[in-house]
Amino acid sequence: MIYLDHAAATPVNKKALEAMEPYFSHDFFNPSSAYLPAKKVSADYESAKATIAHAIGAKSSDLIITAGATEANNLAFTSVSLDGSCQLFSSPTSQGSAGVPLQSCYPSILYLVTEHDSVRKVAEQRGGKPIKVLKTGVIDLDDLKQKITDETELISVSLVNNELGTIQPLAEISAIIREIKIDRLKRGIKKQLLLHSDASQALNLLDINVARLGVDLLTLNSAKVYGPKGVGALYVSHDVNLKPLTYGGGQENGLRSGTENVPGVIGFAKAVEIAKEHLNGNRKKYATWRQTLLKELTDYELINKKHSVDNFVNLCYNNIDAERLIYLLEDKQIYVSTGAACAASKGQKSHVLAAIGLSDSQIAGSLRLTLGETNDDAQIHEAAKIINEVVAKEKERLQNV
Ligand code: PLP
Repeated sequence: MIYLDHAAATPVNKKALEAMEPYFSHDFFNPSSAYLPAKKVSADYESAKATIAHAIGAKSSDLIITAGATEANNLAFTSVSLDGSCQLFSSPTSQGSAGVPLQSCYPSILYLVTEHDSVRKVAEQRGGKPIKVLKTGVIDLDDLKQKITDETELISVSLVNNELGTIQPLAEISAIIREIKIDRLKRGIKKQLLLHSDASQALNLLDINVARLGVDLLTLNSAKVYGPKGVGALYVSHDVNLKPLTYGGGQENGLRSGTENVPGVIGFAKAVEIAKEHLNGNRKKYATWRQTLLKELTDYELINKKHSVDNFVNLCYNNIDAERLIYLLEDKQIYVSTGAACAASKGQKSHVLAAIGLSDSQIAGSLRLTLGETNDDAQIHEAAKIINEVVAKEKERLQNV
């Protein structure tokens, strides 16, 4: 098997798996229990949280552990609450039709148009407006500046896009926000203006520091960094107020009640530690493999030419159905994708590729290869050779129909 879909899922690192094992069996205790073995589990959990927090230049008390990045993203949006005094729907009309949503009643949220659905859907549901991207996939800063109003409370821009690997200029965005906050202060406007970033795809490829990025909220995802699935975290700056995602035992500062996923967090922390240790080496390795693919593959157009992390290779094959390529490659035990795994599985057109201006036929011919730890040099050469063969065969077939 040659797996080239590491943006969809990563296998759990063996050392992370080993670190987790005792907490399923011997150290199974509930961290909230009063006796000593449970207190030790609680201390281990806190220490794992500290490891994850330190990796982004934060403190353990700044992190809320969640069951994945979807939850963390949704929690971030509770920083902006719907105004209780506002009637969200107009009265039903005398003809009996339902009331219409009063958009002006919603708080102002801006989100990058290319965000993952776990940001896009919650932002849309709260009346958020999309910010455009340029053809490169990078945020259109002029559009951002134009759309920020005195009502804007939250701006959400992912650090690395999950379909193209585009790195967004977070520090530049936070500098713009800082200017606006100063101006608001001068004019006596007290409304908050927060920056949230979904860094799900970034932690094992970029050196992340929350202060340097200037973010108030940052989402992390264990499943993309060779940790277990179903574990994530939200970094929350000390001055940000959130509403609970779940109500119950009061774990995670009362924001995400539920017995702690101790093995999951231990595994996440170990995976983060390993990712940090190998960050530079892995980047170099992926950059070399990317170059190898671009050199050895034929007949493609490169979509993500600039500004992307080293392990994303997005290719467009003109007049070829990429869905078919995926199945043909699967027959040769090569696993790739057309885009985000969740959208692809529903047969939806990629909103990310549409946002960077690709035509429907270009979108239909797009493949995403994401390189990672399961690969080696030989696999990369082999994958290029097989993809070329499969594409050539498919072209020949199309000529004969
Ligand atoms: N955000 C990004 C950028 C992602 O790539 C993903 C997963 O594909 C998520 C959020 C959602 O993560 P999860 O399904 O683990 O909650």
